[in-house]
Amino acid sequence: MEILNYTEEHRIFRETVRRFLEKEITPYVDQWEEAGIVPRSAWKKMGEQGFLCMDIAEEYGGLGADFLYSVIVCEELVRTGNTGLAANLHSDIVVPYITSYASEELKQRYLPGCISGDTITAVAMTEPNTGSDLASIRTSAVEDGDHVVINGQKTFISNGINCDLLVLAAKDPAVENPYQAMDLYLVEAGAPGFEKGRKIKKVGWHSQDTAELFFSDCRIPKKNRLGSKGQGFVMLMEKLAQERLICAIMAVAAAERMLQITIPYCHQRTAFGKPIAKFQNTQFRIVEMATEIKLGRTFVDKLIADHMEGKQIVSEVAMAKYWTTDMAMRVADGCVQLHGGYGYCEEYPIARAWRDTRVMSIFAGTNEIMKTIAARFMGL
Ligand SMILES: Cc1cc2nc3c(=O)[nH]c(=O)nc-3n(C[C@H](O)[C@H](O)[C@H](O)COP(=O)(O)OP(=O)(O)OC[C@H]3O[C@@H](n4cnc5c(N)ncnc54)[C@H](O)[C@@H]3O)c2cc1C
Repeated sequence: MEILNYTEEHRIFRETVRRFLEKEITPYVDQWEEAGIVPRSAWKKMGEQGFLCMDIAEEYGGLGADFLYSVIVCEELVRTGNTGLAANLHSDIVVPYITSYASEELKQRYLPGCISGDTITAVAMTEPNTGSDLASIRTSAVEDGDHVVINGQKTFISNGINCDLLVLAAKDPAVENPYQAMDLYLVEAGAPGFEKGRKIKKVGWHSQDTAELFFSDCRIPKKNRLGSKGQGFVMLMEKLAQERLICAIMAVAAAERMLQITIPYCHQRTAFGKPIAKFQNTQFRIVEMATEIKLGRTFVDKLIADHMEGKQIVSEVAMAKYWTTDMAMRVADGCVQLHGGYGYCEEYPIARAWRDTRVMSIFAGTNEIMKTIAARFMGL
């Protein structure tokens, strides 16, 4: 029995996305990996097709589509081997802060551009001195009349170079309780005092423009605050569940892709006079990986269904994020091993997939933090 109720429209949509990506994205992935960034034109094309922020209501130019459309875009993008065009980060992680918590004026101002691909977004929480311990961020936001003055530094910000609009976490130094001190602000690229720093050289995800950001007496309108004062931490906690679900969806799709790459290789590569697929070890390894992937797929699909029904999935999604991303890494390792020396060569897609998989257990909250969340829910 299928867990998710994909309709005929969903299936047609998946075909459309796949065909578009095969033509407009896959041929350019290598080029973007070299460049270390995805051109804005690719974002624009995604927007023109209606593949960004599909859940947003029609009154802002969106489609009012259900979450399965986001799942489809996520899975199909993973299948291209692309990491730089972080459409799901934009559509399903950052922009939901605007749709859920921004004033009507801000929604009118920003959402149409987010949908069309003219406005690329990023979320800036992590700082050089703190990542996991979010409440310890130091970036300050001090109210000054109708403005807020921001000082501080962020790092590891995905879409950091391309972004036009940031959801920024900052603290009011006058408030002692670190959880109540935090607010989220919308900061436009080009705001006085906001500078984009260097693009970080990473082990993988080469086409993703992960960057440092600097704020020096950066002045933004006070009305750019999301939600009511002191609610920043609560808003982050509310939205991080969907972020982690997206991460788990990516991990399962990545594992499926790696196995799909590896099985034909095992049929074609010969050793000792027969395809390596004929060795019992190869068969056992492939079956073990396929079993883990099916477990992950079943768990994640069930969470997608629960999420769409509005069920509380914070603890389960933390479990899924840690387990599926660790599982994807086990699959990556197994697949590289079955490729032998070629698995360690850049021209073989499994090599890139292997190094691109490693970060999944670190971002969107490390897997250790996921376990601390689940442990708390278990009363430990
Ligand atoms: C490619 C990439 C993209 C990213 N994109 C973004 C982005 O767009 N926006 C953003 O804000 N951030 C982003 N990040 C940052 C990411 O979320 C952080 O790296 C992550 O949360 C971990 O923080 P840290 O690097 O400071 O590690 P630390 O917090 O310093 O952790 C170091 C180690 O200590 C462990 N640890 C910490 N606390 C505990 C604990 N309580 N119990 C057990 N172990 C613990 C961690 O699990 C980890 O193993 C990105 C990172 C990368 C690498």
